[in-house]
Amino acid sequence: MSASVIDGKAIAADVRASVAKAVSQLPGQPSLAVVLVGEDPASQVYVRNKVRQTEEAGMVSVHHRLPETASQQDVESLITELNADDSVDGILLQLPLPKGLDADAAIEKIAPDKDVDGLTEVSAGRLTLGKPGLVACTPTGCVILAKRALGADLSGKHVVVIGRSILVGKPAALLFLAENCTVTIAHSRTKDLPAVCRTADILVPAVGRPGMVKADWVKPGAAIIDVGINRVDAPEKGEGKTRLVGDADYADCAEVAGHITPVPGGVGPMTIACLLRNTVLAACARRGWNVPEGL
Ligand code: NAP
Repeated sequence: MSASVIDGKAIAADVRASVAKAVSQLPGQPSLAVVLVGEDPASQVYVRNKVRQTEEAGMVSVHHRLPETASQQDVESLITELNADDSVDGILLQLPLPKGLDADAAIEKIAPDKDVDGLTEVSAGRLTLGKPGLVACTPTGCVILAKRALGADLSGKHVVVIGRSILVGKPAALLFLAENCTVTIAHSRTKDLPAVCRTADILVPAVGRPGMVKADWVKPGAAIIDVGINRVDAPEKGEGKTRLVGDADYADCAEVAGHITPVPGGVGPMTIACLLRNTVLAACARRGWNVPEGL
Protein backbone atom coordinates (compact mmCIF):
# COMPACT_ATOMS: atom_id res chain seq x y z
CA MET A 1 0.00 0.00 0.00
CA SER A 2 1.37 3.42 -0.92
CA ALA A 3 -1.49 5.84 -0.18
CA SER A 4 -1.48 7.82 3.02
CA VAL A 5 -4.67 7.38 4.98
CA ILE A 6 -6.86 10.45 5.51
CA ASP A 7 -7.96 9.95 9.10
CA GLY A 8 -11.54 11.23 9.14
CA LYS A 9 -11.99 10.35 12.80
CA ALA A 10 -9.05 12.51 13.88
CA ILE A 11 -9.96 15.36 11.52
CA ALA A 12 -13.59 15.27 12.71
CA ALA A 13 -12.32 15.46 16.30
CA ASP A 14 -10.30 18.56 15.31
CA VAL A 15 -13.39 20.15 13.74
CA ARG A 16 -15.42 19.38 16.89
CA ALA A 17 -12.67 20.88 19.04
CA SER A 18 -12.65 24.05 16.92
CA VAL A 19 -16.47 24.19 17.24
CA ALA A 20 -16.20 23.85 21.05
CA LYS A 21 -13.55 26.59 21.15
CA ALA A 22 -15.72 28.85 18.97
CA VAL A 23 -18.75 28.23 21.20
CA SER A 24 -16.74 29.19 24.29
CA GLN A 25 -15.97 32.56 22.66
CA LEU A 26 -19.58 33.41 21.77
CA PRO A 27 -21.76 35.71 23.88
CA GLY A 28 -24.43 32.97 24.16
CA GLN A 29 -25.02 29.25 23.60
CA PRO A 30 -26.20 28.08 20.15
CA SER A 31 -29.02 25.58 20.27
CA LEU A 32 -29.88 22.66 17.97
CA ALA A 33 -33.36 21.09 17.86
CA VAL A 34 -33.39 17.50 16.62
CA VAL A 35 -36.70 16.01 15.48
CA LEU A 36 -37.05 12.23 15.44
CA VAL A 37 -40.26 10.70 14.10
CA GLY A 38 -40.94 7.02 14.86
CA GLU A 39 -38.83 4.23 16.28
CA ASP A 40 -36.22 3.41 13.58
CA PRO A 41 -33.34 1.90 15.62
CA ALA A 42 -30.53 3.27 13.41
CA SER A 43 -32.07 6.77 13.53
CA GLN A 44 -32.28 6.54 17.33
CA VAL A 45 -28.53 5.83 17.48
CA TYR A 46 -27.72 8.71 15.08
CA VAL A 47 -29.89 11.11 17.09
CA ARG A 48 -28.30 10.02 20.39
CA ASN A 49 -24.84 10.69 18.90
CA LYS A 50 -25.89 14.08 17.58
CA VAL A 51 -27.40 15.10 20.93
CA ARG A 52 -24.29 13.94 22.84
CA GLN A 53 -21.81 15.62 20.51
CA THR A 54 -23.85 18.87 20.45
CA GLU A 55 -23.72 18.99 24.25
CA GLU A 56 -20.02 18.05 24.33
CA ALA A 57 -19.34 21.06 22.09
CA GLY A 58 -20.99 23.29 24.71
CA MET A 59 -24.24 23.87 22.83
CA VAL A 60 -27.85 23.32 23.84
CA SER A 61 -29.52 20.28 22.35
CA VAL A 62 -33.30 19.96 22.34
CA HIS A 63 -34.66 16.59 21.33
CA HIS A 64 -38.25 16.32 20.03
CA ARG A 65 -39.80 12.90 19.50
CA LEU A 66 -42.97 12.23 17.58
CA PRO A 67 -44.63 8.80 17.46
CA GLU A 68 -44.56 6.48 14.41
CA THR A 69 -48.23 7.38 13.93
CA ALA A 70 -47.52 11.13 13.61
CA SER A 71 -49.23 12.77 10.65
CA GLN A 72 -47.62 15.07 8.08
CA GLN A 73 -49.46 17.91 9.81
CA ASP A 74 -47.95 16.93 13.20
CA VAL A 75 -44.41 16.98 11.78
CA GLU A 76 -44.88 20.24 9.91
CA SER A 77 -46.57 21.94 12.91
CA LEU A 78 -43.61 21.03 15.12
CA ILE A 79 -41.18 22.45 12.54
CA THR A 80 -43.27 25.64 12.30
CA GLU A 81 -43.13 25.97 16.10
CA LEU A 82 -39.35 25.52 16.09
CA ASN A 83 -39.02 28.09 13.29
CA ALA A 84 -40.82 30.62 15.48
CA ASP A 85 -38.86 29.74 18.64
CA ASP A 86 -36.18 32.40 18.94
CA SER A 87 -34.05 30.21 21.24
CA VAL A 88 -33.58 27.60 18.46
CA ASP A 89 -30.71 28.23 16.00
CA GLY A 90 -30.74 24.98 14.04
CA ILE A 91 -33.40 22.40 13.15
CA LEU A 92 -32.47 18.90 12.10
CA LEU A 93 -35.18 16.54 10.86
CA GLN A 94 -33.79 13.01 11.18
CA LEU A 95 -34.34 11.03 7.97
CA PRO A 96 -35.78 8.72 6.81
CA LEU A 97 -39.30 9.54 8.01
CA PRO A 98 -41.75 6.67 8.59
CA LYS A 99 -43.58 5.40 5.50
CA GLY A 100 -46.42 7.62 4.34
CA LEU A 101 -44.76 10.88 5.36
CA ASP A 102 -43.40 13.28 2.75
CA ALA A 103 -39.81 14.17 3.76
CA ASP A 104 -39.33 16.77 0.99
CA ALA A 105 -42.45 18.68 2.01
CA ALA A 106 -41.42 18.57 5.69
CA ILE A 107 -37.88 19.77 4.90
CA GLU A 108 -39.30 22.69 2.92
CA LYS A 109 -41.04 23.88 6.11
CA ILE A 110 -37.67 24.42 7.82
CA ALA A 111 -36.70 28.11 7.93
CA PRO A 112 -33.62 28.36 5.64
CA ASP A 113 -31.66 30.26 8.29
CA LYS A 114 -32.11 27.28 10.66
CA ASP A 115 -31.51 24.63 7.95
CA VAL A 116 -28.31 23.20 9.45
CA ASP A 117 -28.54 20.13 7.18
CA GLY A 118 -28.50 22.45 4.15
CA LEU A 119 -31.33 20.54 2.47
CA THR A 120 -33.97 23.17 1.70
CA GLU A 121 -34.42 24.59 -1.79
CA VAL A 122 -33.27 27.98 -0.53
CA SER A 123 -30.03 26.49 0.84
CA ALA A 124 -29.42 24.62 -2.43
CA GLY A 125 -30.17 27.81 -4.38
CA ARG A 126 -27.77 29.89 -2.27
CA LEU A 127 -25.03 27.30 -2.84
CA THR A 128 -25.67 27.30 -6.59
CA LEU A 129 -25.59 31.11 -6.72
CA GLY A 130 -22.42 31.25 -4.61
CA LYS A 131 -24.23 33.18 -1.87
CA PRO A 132 -23.57 32.64 1.84
CA GLY A 133 -25.80 29.98 3.36
CA LEU A 134 -25.87 26.68 5.18
CA VAL A 135 -24.33 23.85 3.16
CA ALA A 136 -25.07 20.11 3.37
CA CYS A 137 -22.78 18.48 5.94
CA THR A 138 -21.31 15.45 4.12
CA PRO A 139 -20.09 17.45 1.08
CA THR A 140 -18.60 20.09 3.39
CA GLY A 141 -16.76 17.25 5.14
CA CYS A 142 -15.39 16.02 1.79
CA VAL A 143 -13.82 19.40 1.03
CA ILE A 144 -12.29 19.65 4.51
CA LEU A 145 -10.75 16.18 4.10
CA ALA A 146 -9.37 17.00 0.65
CA LYS A 147 -7.79 20.19 2.01
CA ARG A 148 -6.23 18.33 4.92
CA ALA A 149 -4.66 15.88 2.47
CA LEU A 150 -3.61 18.27 -0.29
CA GLY A 151 -3.32 21.68 1.34
CA ALA A 152 -5.72 24.61 1.59
CA ASP A 153 -5.43 25.66 -2.05
CA LEU A 154 -7.25 23.19 -4.28
CA SER A 155 -7.43 25.53 -7.26
CA GLY A 156 -6.92 23.91 -10.62
CA LYS A 157 -7.34 20.36 -9.32
CA HIS A 158 -9.58 18.17 -11.42
CA VAL A 159 -12.31 16.68 -9.23
CA VAL A 160 -14.49 13.83 -10.45
CA VAL A 161 -17.58 13.33 -8.32
CA ILE A 162 -19.36 10.05 -9.08
CA GLY A 163 -23.03 10.57 -8.20
CA ARG A 164 -25.40 13.50 -8.67
CA SER A 165 -27.75 13.25 -5.69
CA ILE A 166 -29.19 16.35 -4.03
CA LEU A 167 -27.72 15.20 -0.70
CA VAL A 168 -24.11 14.53 -1.77
CA GLY A 169 -23.04 14.56 -5.42
CA LYS A 170 -24.39 17.92 -6.59
CA PRO A 171 -23.47 19.96 -3.51
CA ALA A 172 -20.02 18.31 -3.38
CA ALA A 173 -19.42 19.31 -7.01
CA LEU A 174 -20.51 22.91 -6.31
CA LEU A 175 -18.32 23.15 -3.21
CA PHE A 176 -15.23 21.95 -5.09
CA LEU A 177 -16.09 24.40 -7.87
CA ALA A 178 -16.17 27.18 -5.26
CA GLU A 179 -12.62 26.10 -4.36
CA ASN A 180 -11.65 26.81 -8.01
CA CYS A 181 -11.39 23.15 -8.93
CA THR A 182 -12.35 21.91 -12.38
CA VAL A 183 -15.26 19.59 -11.71
CA THR A 184 -16.75 16.66 -13.59
CA ILE A 185 -19.96 15.05 -12.33
CA ALA A 186 -20.23 11.41 -13.40
CA HIS A 187 -23.34 9.25 -12.98
CA SER A 188 -24.96 6.03 -14.09
CA ARG A 189 -25.11 7.13 -17.75
CA THR A 190 -21.49 8.33 -17.95
CA LYS A 191 -19.61 6.66 -20.81
CA ASP A 192 -16.34 4.90 -19.91
CA LEU A 193 -16.45 5.83 -16.24
CA PRO A 194 -13.00 4.31 -15.48
CA ALA A 195 -11.38 6.59 -18.09
CA VAL A 196 -13.18 9.64 -16.67
CA CYS A 197 -12.07 8.72 -13.15
CA ARG A 198 -8.45 8.31 -14.27
CA THR A 199 -8.37 12.04 -15.07
CA ALA A 200 -9.15 12.99 -11.45
CA ASP A 201 -6.71 14.56 -9.02
CA ILE A 202 -9.47 14.17 -6.44
CA LEU A 203 -11.95 11.32 -6.90
CA VAL A 204 -15.17 11.44 -4.89
CA PRO A 205 -17.28 8.30 -5.30
CA ALA A 206 -20.78 8.86 -3.86
CA VAL A 207 -22.77 6.02 -5.36
CA GLY A 208 -23.59 3.25 -2.91
CA ARG A 209 -21.93 0.35 -4.76
CA PRO A 210 -19.41 -1.57 -2.67
CA GLY A 211 -15.86 -1.59 -4.06
CA MET A 212 -16.90 -0.22 -7.46
CA VAL A 213 -13.79 1.93 -7.97
CA LYS A 214 -10.75 -0.22 -8.79
CA ALA A 215 -7.05 0.62 -8.85
CA ASP A 216 -7.03 1.00 -12.63
CA TRP A 217 -9.67 3.78 -12.32
CA VAL A 218 -7.26 5.87 -10.25
CA LYS A 219 -4.57 8.28 -11.47
CA PRO A 220 -1.34 7.50 -9.60
CA GLY A 221 -1.08 9.83 -6.60
CA ALA A 222 -4.73 10.97 -6.69
CA ALA A 223 -6.75 11.59 -3.52
CA ILE A 224 -9.83 9.42 -3.02
CA ILE A 225 -12.55 10.84 -0.77
CA ASP A 226 -14.90 7.86 -0.48
CA VAL A 227 -18.45 8.87 0.47
CA GLY A 228 -20.03 5.46 -0.06
CA ILE A 229 -21.18 3.49 2.96
CA ASN A 230 -22.20 -0.06 2.10
CA ARG A 231 -22.94 -2.98 4.40
CA VAL A 232 -21.63 -6.28 3.02
CA ASP A 233 -21.49 -9.83 4.32
CA ALA A 234 -18.37 -10.65 6.32
CA PRO A 235 -18.29 -14.44 6.73
CA GLU A 236 -14.66 -14.11 7.92
CA LYS A 237 -16.05 -12.46 11.09
CA GLY A 238 -18.51 -15.29 11.67
CA GLU A 239 -21.84 -16.51 10.38
CA GLY A 240 -24.30 -13.75 9.58
CA LYS A 241 -21.77 -10.99 10.34
CA THR A 242 -21.43 -7.88 8.21
CA ARG A 243 -19.01 -4.99 7.78
CA LEU A 244 -19.02 -1.54 6.21
CA VAL A 245 -17.11 -0.79 3.02
CA GLY A 246 -16.88 2.21 0.73
CA ASP A 247 -17.44 2.63 -3.00
CA ALA A 248 -13.69 2.30 -3.62
CA ASP A 249 -11.99 -1.09 -3.36
CA TYR A 250 -9.78 0.14 -0.53
CA ALA A 251 -6.86 -2.32 -0.61
CA ASP A 252 -6.68 -2.21 -4.41
CA CYS A 253 -6.97 1.60 -4.76
CA ALA A 254 -4.56 2.30 -1.90
CA GLU A 255 -1.78 0.79 -4.05
CA VAL A 256 -2.18 3.56 -6.61
CA ALA A 257 -3.72 6.57 -4.84
CA GLY A 258 -1.67 9.17 -2.98
CA HIS A 259 -4.32 9.68 -0.28
CA ILE A 260 -7.43 7.71 0.62
CA THR A 261 -10.21 7.86 3.21
CA PRO A 262 -11.08 4.58 4.92
CA VAL A 263 -14.66 3.36 5.41
CA PRO A 264 -15.59 3.49 8.22
CA GLY A 265 -13.56 6.32 9.71
CA GLY A 266 -13.32 8.65 6.71
CA VAL A 267 -16.14 10.87 5.48
CA GLY A 268 -18.69 9.44 7.95
CA PRO A 269 -17.40 11.12 11.15
CA MET A 270 -17.17 14.45 9.33
CA THR A 271 -20.94 14.65 8.84
CA ILE A 272 -21.86 15.27 12.50
CA ALA A 273 -18.80 17.51 13.00
CA CYS A 274 -20.00 19.69 10.10
CA LEU A 275 -23.54 19.71 11.51
CA LEU A 276 -22.17 21.17 14.77
CA ARG A 277 -20.17 23.72 12.77
CA ASN A 278 -23.32 24.68 10.82
CA THR A 279 -25.21 25.18 14.09
CA VAL A 280 -22.61 27.72 15.24
CA LEU A 281 -22.68 29.44 11.83
CA ALA A 282 -26.51 29.57 11.93
CA ALA A 283 -26.46 31.03 15.45
CA CYS A 284 -23.91 33.70 14.46
CA ALA A 285 -25.88 34.68 11.34
CA ARG A 286 -29.23 34.83 13.18
CA ARG A 287 -27.98 36.61 16.26
CA GLY A 288 -25.53 38.99 14.60
CA TRP A 289 -22.48 37.49 16.34
CA ASN A 290 -19.07 37.50 14.66
CA VAL A 291 -17.98 34.03 13.57
CA PRO A 292 -15.00 33.17 15.81
CA GLU A 293 -11.72 32.74 13.98
CA GLY A 294 -10.63 29.21 13.15
CA LEU A 295 -14.11 27.84 12.50
P1 NAP B 1 -28.18 8.15 -4.28
O1 NAP B 1 -29.16 9.25 -4.06
O2 NAP B 1 -28.67 6.77 -4.48
O3 NAP B 1 -27.29 8.58 -5.55
C1 NAP B 1 -26.38 7.67 -6.11
C2 NAP B 1 -25.76 8.29 -7.33
O4 NAP B 1 -24.87 7.32 -7.88
C3 NAP B 1 -26.76 8.64 -8.43
O5 NAP B 1 -26.50 9.93 -8.92
C4 NAP B 1 -26.52 7.58 -9.50
O6 NAP B 1 -26.60 8.03 -10.83
C5 NAP B 1 -25.08 7.22 -9.26
N1 NAP B 1 -24.82 5.84 -9.73
C6 NAP B 1 -25.53 4.72 -9.47
N2 NAP B 1 -24.98 3.66 -10.09
C7 NAP B 1 -23.92 4.14 -10.78
C8 NAP B 1 -22.95 3.53 -11.61
N3 NAP B 1 -22.98 2.23 -11.89
N4 NAP B 1 -21.99 4.31 -12.15
C9 NAP B 1 -21.95 5.64 -11.89
N5 NAP B 1 -22.83 6.26 -11.09
C10 NAP B 1 -23.80 5.51 -10.55
O7 NAP B 1 -27.13 8.07 -3.08
P2 NAP B 1 -26.57 9.23 -2.08
O8 NAP B 1 -27.62 9.58 -1.09
O9 NAP B 1 -25.93 10.29 -2.88
O10 NAP B 1 -25.45 8.37 -1.33
C11 NAP B 1 -24.36 7.80 -2.02
C12 NAP B 1 -23.55 6.96 -1.07
O11 NAP B 1 -23.03 7.80 -0.04
C13 NAP B 1 -24.32 5.85 -0.35
O12 NAP B 1 -23.47 4.76 -0.14
C14 NAP B 1 -24.64 6.49 1.01
O13 NAP B 1 -24.80 5.53 2.04
C15 NAP B 1 -23.41 7.31 1.23
N6 NAP B 1 -23.59 8.47 2.13
C16 NAP B 1 -22.65 8.64 3.09
C17 NAP B 1 -22.75 9.71 3.95
C18 NAP B 1 -21.70 9.91 4.99
O14 NAP B 1 -21.92 10.54 6.00
N7 NAP B 1 -20.49 9.40 4.76
C19 NAP B 1 -23.82 10.61 3.84
C20 NAP B 1 -24.74 10.42 2.82
C21 NAP B 1 -24.62 9.34 1.95
P3 NAP B 1 -28.01 8.44 -11.53
O15 NAP B 1 -28.32 9.81 -10.99
O16 NAP B 1 -27.67 8.45 -12.97
O17 NAP B 1 -29.00 7.41 -11.12
